[in-house]
Amino acid sequence: MAKETPFVPVKVKCPFCEAESVQRYIKSRMYQPEIVEEDSHVASYKWENPEFSHVRPNFYHIWHCPSCHFCDEKETFRGEDKSGGKLELIREKLLIYSRMPNSLIARLAAAIDFSRDDYSVDSAIAAHILAIHEQELLSPNLRQFNKLARFYLRTAWLYREKRDLSLMDGKTPGGFESFQAFLESFREEWPGMPLGEDAALETALARYRDILNHSSNADVKFEINVMNLIIAVLRRMGRNPEALRAVRGVFATATKARQTARAAVQKGINVAQNQGVLNFAAGVIDKATTLAEELGEIVFKEELPAAREAVLKMGPVDAKTVLDKLREHKFSDITCRRLAKMFEKQAQAKK
Ligand SMILES: [Zn+2]
Repeated sequence: MAKETPFVPVKVKCPFCEAESVQRYIKSRMYQPEIVEEDSHVASYKWENPEFSHVRPNFYHIWHCPSCHFCDEKETFRGEDKSGGKLELIREKLLIYSRMPNSLIARLAAAIDFSRDDYSVDSAIAAHILAIHEQELLSPNLRQFNKLARFYLRTAWLYREKRDLSLMDGKTPGGFESFQAFLESFREEWPGMPLGEDAALETALARYRDILNHSSNADVKFEINVMNLIIAVLRRMGRNPEALRAVRGVFATATKARQTARAAVQKGINVAQNQGVLNFAAGVIDKATTLAEELGEIVFKEELPAAREAVLKMGPVDAKTVLDKLREHKFSDITCRRLAKMFEKQAQAKK
């Protein structure tokens, strides 16, 4: 009897070079996320068969054509791409570069150990980085921010896993001491290449912000989803004051959507749909209120020592000056207001 495996092999024709290869995915009913971190990263999975507990399903998110080195999600390989012709533009360039043995694409692809059924974390990182690079063959104004944001975030997860789960290096490409040294050899050619978790998160954040900057305000649910991801990434990076400001952004967006939907309902326009927006916005506002309170406490606690010191340096001033100066120092609003209040109380007590 064949050995049981979580992988399902699929024969697929590359949408770029038409070479046939065997890709794989994992039967999703075989595992469940067990611990999910704030930025949606699944830190641990629970497998039906504990023998597979070493398998990380996210490693296989990107498929890789061993012939032309096209890397993308399985939906794209299956012809379900919705990029509106952008794929064609990538294709032209990729087919030229992948045939040049010294191109970045060919060298990076050499680190993907396609012969093995279960990927090493390094193979997964190389495939993800290659997928990013190929998307970035498009000029910046044509790029798919959503896809790039997702790829960068997933790359950050892989670096995190490599560190937190102490995963072994894969097959290190010839001439390099380590996989990291191999990656760093691309730095000059590609200064933005994500070489670690923080760099990958930073760029993911920028791409998520690009989505919002280019959105048409047509789909408030999608927009709030993106905003929540931005908050999650900021919290993960320990940038709580920024996360708090982003929560206020969610609050403002949901409030605006609620006003528009309410006005539409009153006029009898698309009532069912707008009622749905009203319900959705109410839920978002509730959650944002709770999160703002929670984050406000964290931020205040973090900023308090530095803010106190700043107040001590001000010499004899009144509460209003304390407030203004703390704002000048760019402390969060909650810290400025609370400290000014504390200052006022103390001043009154002294009288
Ligand atoms: Zn191909």
